[in-house]
Amino acid sequence: MYKGIVEFIRETYGDRISIPLHEPCFSGNEREYVADTIESSFVSSVGEYVNRFERDIATFCGAKFAVATVNGTAALHIALKLSGTGAGDEVLTQPLTFVATANAISYTGALPVFIDVDRDTLGLSPEKLEDFLKVNIVIRKGFAVNKKSGRRISACVPMHTFGHPCRIDEIAAVCRKYKIALVEDAAESIGSLYKGKHTGTFGKAGVLSFNGNKIITTGGGGMIITDDANFAKKAKHITTTAKIPHKWEYVHDETGYNYRLPNINAALGCAQLEKLKGFLVKKRLLADTYATYFKSIGIPFVLEPEYARSNYWLNAILLKNRAERNKFLEYSNSNGVMTRPAWRLMNKLRMYKSCQCGNLENANWLEDRIVNIPSSVTK
Ligand SMILES: *Cc1c(COP(=O)(O)O)cnc(C)c1O
Repeated sequence: MYKGIVEFIRETYGDRISIPLHEPCFSGNEREYVADTIESSFVSSVGEYVNRFERDIATFCGAKFAVATVNGTAALHIALKLSGTGAGDEVLTQPLTFVATANAISYTGALPVFIDVDRDTLGLSPEKLEDFLKVNIVIRKGFAVNKKSGRRISACVPMHTFGHPCRIDEIAAVCRKYKIALVEDAAESIGSLYKGKHTGTFGKAGVLSFNGNKIITTGGGGMIITDDANFAKKAKHITTTAKIPHKWEYVHDETGYNYRLPNINAALGCAQLEKLKGFLVKKRLLADTYATYFKSIGIPFVLEPEYARSNYWLNAILLKNRAERNKFLEYSNSNGVMTRPAWRLMNKLRMYKSCQCGNLENANWLEDRIVNIPSSVTK
């Protein structure tokens, strides 16, 4: 059976010795725009491509503002900080995520608290979130306070796993009810819609990533999207060393960060964004091909929830158990087809082991079964 799957993936990707999980595709104006930054000498912190990339991303996502950053982790750090998370707070998130989500929470001085995901969306479960809050918090002076730790729960960071939108409007409603700021980790879900609205636009702010393995890349890069003009203004300020604009003086009015996206990276991003719609069409075709095949051999393939439109960033199948998962990982990787398990759950990593957790039955179940299969945009 595993031989058949590997052969099918090989046929799908044509004649190649090894097939990566996800590689970038540069078939548009990438060379021209990058060369343009070199010729103009504006490769670094100043330049028109940054402004254009921010405008184009805001338009694409239907957000009012977008602020480019050096990577998605930095974007998440600043989005959390500006949403009011600071030292000693707690932030609710899912254990099934890339480590950047938990790390960004840590950078603010807050502690992550891990809440379970849904088995169908792979994203934060609104029911599990509400169950946790009902039992564990009291509202004190307009804030949600964890009865057990005495700490304020300042924010909630759901993640749209592999590009599949989670039940974000239900999560947003729970957050409103318990007075918790919503920051979406939409790093994997550019182009994914929840009931027609772009992921990352449901809370105070959303965060995108343009790392090399994402659907479009700037080499490294990220973006904060928001509808709040003041939030966007503060984000721009604090990510550009908090320098007060002046013709020659260097004056900074708070401890800022050097988190801005260089112009040369933004140039790559502008060219990639021009291709995104075409990429999304091809990814959907690839997912359809996989879905039909895996149905025919009786292996569950992760599909977009019926209310959503996924970008199908990383395709995933669910194997029977951990032993079968490991067998398939071993077979496919030694036969030139790159496959990967889901991330080790955050609550099992050394630095997050002592964090508070809800009941994580679904995350544990999924961790044993998920395998990501090659998902690059086909030629
Ligand atoms: C890629 C990613 C990020 C951001 O990663 P960077 O490499 O810093 O751009 C954050 N969260 C998730 C879930 C991701 O997949």
